[in-house]
Amino acid sequence: METPTARVEVAPRPLVGLDLGELLALVRAAGEPPYRARQLYRGLYRDHAGRVSEISTLPLALRNGLLRDCGSGLPEVRQRHTSADGTVRYLVGLQDGRTVECVFIPERARDTLCISSQAGCAVDCRFCLTALMGLERNLTAGEIVGQVLAIAGDRDLKPRRRPVNVVMMGMGEPLLNLGPVMKATRLLADPAAVGIPQRRITVSTSGIVPKIAEFGASAVRGKLAISLNASSQGQRAEIMPISSKYPLDALLEVCRSYPLRRWERLTFEYVLLKGVNDSDTDARRVAGLLAGFKCKVNLIALNPGAGIEFGIPSDDRVNAFRSIVHRRVPCFVRKPRGRDIFAACGQLRRTASPPLVHPDPSEGQNL
Ligand code: SAH
Ligand code: SF4
Repeated sequence: METPTARVEVAPRPLVGLDLGELLALVRAAGEPPYRARQLYRGLYRDHAGRVSEISTLPLALRNGLLRDCGSGLPEVRQRHTSADGTVRYLVGLQDGRTVECVFIPERARDTLCISSQAGCAVDCRFCLTALMGLERNLTAGEIVGQVLAIAGDRDLKPRRRPVNVVMMGMGEPLLNLGPVMKATRLLADPAAVGIPQRRITVSTSGIVPKIAEFGASAVRGKLAISLNASSQGQRAEIMPISSKYPLDALLEVCRSYPLRRWERLTFEYVLLKGVNDSDTDARRVAGLLAGFKCKVNLIALNPGAGIEFGIPSDDRVNAFRSIVHRRVPCFVRKPRGRDIFAACGQLRRTASPPLVHPDPSEGQNL
């Protein structure tokens, strides 16, 4: 007796996020010659920022067929909030109706895009607004590269004419979503695709020790930034509970054996929290921990937000801290961008409409 074969419903796979090999399989299945895959690849990532309907090198019937069967999957810009300093916070919609935030930061010689790797974050750092959301889900490679395409399309950015930096410092912990982050990086860095060189891509981690080694073993990868944020294990565990699982000495150990490329150095980020990790003693300890690394330190004073219990150190404190660290390790102060629209580091919490109460950026405030 013949058993009826079950009809398997295959969910449509969005095109954005597929690599050349996957596009080749798709094009073959549609009965088209292989060179169509390269046209599609170039059209998706290089020329048309994910807008399949505009890839005029492809026959109309193929374009329509692909869109009908797959959909482009390009995230859609839902909202823009523009800061007095020119920074723009974007809310982008994903196919399942969820949203994530990304930030466009214009600078004199280049533009920087800060994108998300997860919707929310499970890591629970005490000073970060994203942590308050918890983790909703991982983003796909297409959703990660799609944020870059969506904003590039919205602002008409041309990475080959004017440099674009991409930092994975928005929502989420990239090393807890490593596969899609690496695939997205390959699509971003491929000169035949988006064309943003590896040295212009930065991945920031709270210190997922086993994943740091795996990240370092990838042939194509961004630069690595480590959120240090404390000068001792005890202090770090207080503000970053992940440090109980991956202690500071193990983190520094994996950094010591990290395979830096010739042109590369590690970045250590340090959020200064008033009266918690910002003393001269902390600065001396940080310098002691990092002396000997090929690295730099980026300091950032806390960006405030409702539900965050820490205070903002004064400019004088930040500068004093910087000079002490700088005696032994190159150390820079990162000026917050877009604080007034909740676009600065650690402030991304899907504030769907402009906040009614603006944070007071004045110094030395306890919130
Ligand atoms: N999850 C990754 C990347 C996203 S967070 C990580 O933690 O590294 C990006 C950066 O923002 C991190 O360096 C983090 O320490 C910093 N950050 C988080 N909350 C902040 C806040 N309220 N003010 C300033 N920086 C903050
Ligand atoms: Fe997650 Fe980074 Fe925020 Fe920590 S600082 S909760 S790891 S997004």
